[in-house]
Amino acid sequence: MNSINSKKIPGLYIHIPFCLSKCPYCDFYSSTSISAVPDFLNGLSKEIEMYRHQFNPIDTVYIGGGTPSLLSPEQLEKILMSIRKNFDLISNIEITIEVNPADLNQSFLESMCEIGINRINIGVQSFDEKVLGFLGRRHSVKQAISAIEASREAGFYNIGLDLIYGVPGQGIESWLDTLTKALVFSPEHLSCYQLTLEPKTPLGIRCQAGEFSLPGEELQYEFFMKTSEFLRDAGYIHYEVSNFARGKEFASSHNQKYWDHSPYLGLGPSAHSFQSNQRWWNHRSFETYLTAITGGNLPVEEKEILTMEQLQLEAFYLGLRTRKGVCLQEFKNQYDYDLLTEKRELLVKLEEEGLITLQDDYLYPTQTGLAIADSLSLI
Ligand code: SF4
Repeated sequence: MNSINSKKIPGLYIHIPFCLSKCPYCDFYSSTSISAVPDFLNGLSKEIEMYRHQFNPIDTVYIGGGTPSLLSPEQLEKILMSIRKNFDLISNIEITIEVNPADLNQSFLESMCEIGINRINIGVQSFDEKVLGFLGRRHSVKQAISAIEASREAGFYNIGLDLIYGVPGQGIESWLDTLTKALVFSPEHLSCYQLTLEPKTPLGIRCQAGEFSLPGEELQYEFFMKTSEFLRDAGYIHYEVSNFARGKEFASSHNQKYWDHSPYLGLGPSAHSFQSNQRWWNHRSFETYLTAITGGNLPVEEKEILTMEQLQLEAFYLGLRTRKGVCLQEFKNQYDYDLLTEKRELLVKLEEEGLITLQDDYLYPTQTGLAIADSLSLI
């Protein structure tokens, strides 16, 4: 099989698996054993070397987690030095770091700019103290505001804020108030995620026990539509289900790779990678990850080979998560599949239900299509 993404430039994801405390809704892998950071960094540096020159060049680096802002500027600089030594980075590379507002101060932020990080994603989640309390966040609204202001002052011109809606007890008005407060800072990027609860998380367990419930389908839809309308009125492009950019140059180049089958390499515990028709992921547990690396092995837990049919289906539904939609000709070239002929019945059905439109050789999701993109494949 020809590689479906050989012409696309890869991105690099680094997972920093540490958090000071565990948020009760979070299902990402992270550990609170901060004393293990030095061992992890040694392991990560070896893992970076193991992939030396294999994903070249790269045009995005995303340092996520967990909480990367728990590391010192020196530790983060070392990671970037190791990346620069082992991969070719294009000159205008996008380098993002995810941060917790509670960890930031001016000198940390200035150091981030100095070492070449040019995009900062701040986990604000809400400008409502009650919502932050429910979510068990360790930062306050005041700290979130200081973090945004200090990031600007330090020289970040590409600031993203992560926000969560659909929290029990939160009405639409209170959510719009959080959005209004976010816009005061003219962030270049906003990610607005609907709260979902995995059954094994502490909030998931309380929800199952009937202590509270998440918004039903109708209210979820209203939250989604109101968010989109509100941010589009404020000049933002709603470019993916949960993502908004203040101009297309501020859409996340790294995240785009997950939606268009670009190759990406994920390093660190639980990180996922994708290249050609293969997807693989690292051991989730930090200990197993380190044991593999210490033994000179890649810390890969499992690898799957995707069939062309799986890739076609994925590409179709991933494309419909984005405002850019699916270009039929490109799809044909890349996946050797004529969507219009082969999936005519499905496309007619989706169009009749008002979920997609066909225009100039493109399939675009409608606003309703975007709202239900997660369940589109079930239709
Ligand atoms: S800080 Fe982020 S990664 Fe860590 S527990 Fe909270 S939500 Fe999860």
